[in-house]
Amino acid sequence: MTNLAENLTRSAVRIPDRPALRLHDTTYSYSELEELAGRAAGRMAALGVGVGDRVGLMLPNVLEFPVLFYGALRLGAIVVPMNPLLKGREIEHYAGDSGMVLLWAHESVADDDLAGLAGRVGVERVDGSTIAGLRDSDIAPTVDRDDLDTAVILYTSGTTGSPKGAELTHGGLNRNQQICREDLLDVTEQDVVMGCLPLFHVFGLTCCLNAGVAAGALLTLIPRFDPELVLDVIARDGVTIFEGVPTMYTALAHAPGADPSRTASLRVCCSGGASLPADVVRAFEQTFEAKILEGYGLSETSPVASFNRVENAKIGSIGTPIPGVEFRLVNDDDSPTPVGEVGEIAIRGHNVMKGYWNRPEATAEAIRDGWFHTGDMARVDDDGFYYIVDRKKELIIRGGFNVYPREIEEVLYEHPAVREAAVIGIPHPTHGEEIAAAVSLHTGTDVTESDIRDYVKARVAPYKYPRVVWFVDDLPKGATGKILKRAIEPPTSTS
Ligand code: AMP
Repeated sequence: MTNLAENLTRSAVRIPDRPALRLHDTTYSYSELEELAGRAAGRMAALGVGVGDRVGLMLPNVLEFPVLFYGALRLGAIVVPMNPLLKGREIEHYAGDSGMVLLWAHESVADDDLAGLAGRVGVERVDGSTIAGLRDSDIAPTVDRDDLDTAVILYTSGTTGSPKGAELTHGGLNRNQQICREDLLDVTEQDVVMGCLPLFHVFGLTCCLNAGVAAGALLTLIPRFDPELVLDVIARDGVTIFEGVPTMYTALAHAPGADPSRTASLRVCCSGGASLPADVVRAFEQTFEAKILEGYGLSETSPVASFNRVENAKIGSIGTPIPGVEFRLVNDDDSPTPVGEVGEIAIRGHNVMKGYWNRPEATAEAIRDGWFHTGDMARVDDDGFYYIVDRKKELIIRGGFNVYPREIEEVLYEHPAVREAAVIGIPHPTHGEEIAAAVSLHTGTDVTESDIRDYVKARVAPYKYPRVVWFVDDLPKGATGKILKRAIEPPTSTS
């Protein structure tokens, strides 16, 4: 029996009265959460949902997310988590592609954006009265699932094209949360886990929700990341585990309310989802006296694939592969990269998705010979620690020279005035591509674009420094807070 929902049942039997979930001033104990998930399953069964049916969850981090997530899994249904900010066309793509039968849509989603589903997908609204409504439903039992049965279809752009659904299994997700919980973070029922990563993204889903629930910890939710609120909640609830993307660490390190006495409960912080610049680690660790451990993964790998351990961490590295998972670095023709050279990370192990939902060609392109090709370029050191150089598609080729944006971003982050930076390639008539940097500054700083350009110029090979630098108030970010390079628009006139 490996239904992922069993983890909740086990915690409810073991520690029924311990707090499981909190948002603002509402807290559910494990027995309450288990009961509500059972009733949510009963409600969905009454709506006709059964084994293998796809159920959309379009919710921010509200209490209903875990209730409906485990409720749908109990029935053997497949959950399709969705960002509540998606618009009509995107929603129709997710619903149509996955063959969704029911969508739980948060009250913040506009009626207009759901209009295209009429007559095809049942829509249930989630608002302040949803939980009360569930209390009248019967409790449905948990259906047995096999390790290889799909639990979640997670839409991701992968390396190319429109969003495809990565099929993650009960066994893969379960093993991943177990490794997070036991081997990496050592989560127990004494822990309080910060839930500011969106649960509709795999990082929040596995590392905060599934790992927290299986451990019997308290997950304290924040609907949308806000550094001041995070600091308040850490102090209020005595948060011990913080998990976030690098932009969250930057924001926290420079938040006006940052004060180590309010965050003394933090035991371990982990970062993933994007490269963690060494300077961000220094700024955060200086302010908070708490260590950040970097991990690496993708939607397609449930997500954790490698991690640094508390007792053995290297700054700038994504660590070593998790137990039961292998990495190798390959060239474009899949041959192994010579020792010491940069290659694409290919991953094999229990964490790799079954495939992309209904996309045999995309699956065959990504998973070759049993190895999932990530599109991330890396090198490995003598101790087996991997270092992401960049994503394959973000490589900039300027006049025939390869420039990895990440390396330039590291230098930009070292400048004291720089808050966030993203380096991209822009078209150039003779070099093919030119290197350009979008930079946001700390408040109260007084530098010019050319100061920043000269700073990098003095520190890297001449072909690598950004010829074009421009200041922005804020860089565009995705759902988790990761910087979205493809949404950056270079200025029409440049410095
Ligand atoms: P997603 O599927 O949204 O989780 O995005 C996965 C991508 O995030 C990976 O392919 C990497 O490009 C990036 N990523 C995740 N963790 C890291 C990390 N520690 N360092 C650099 N990039 C990362």
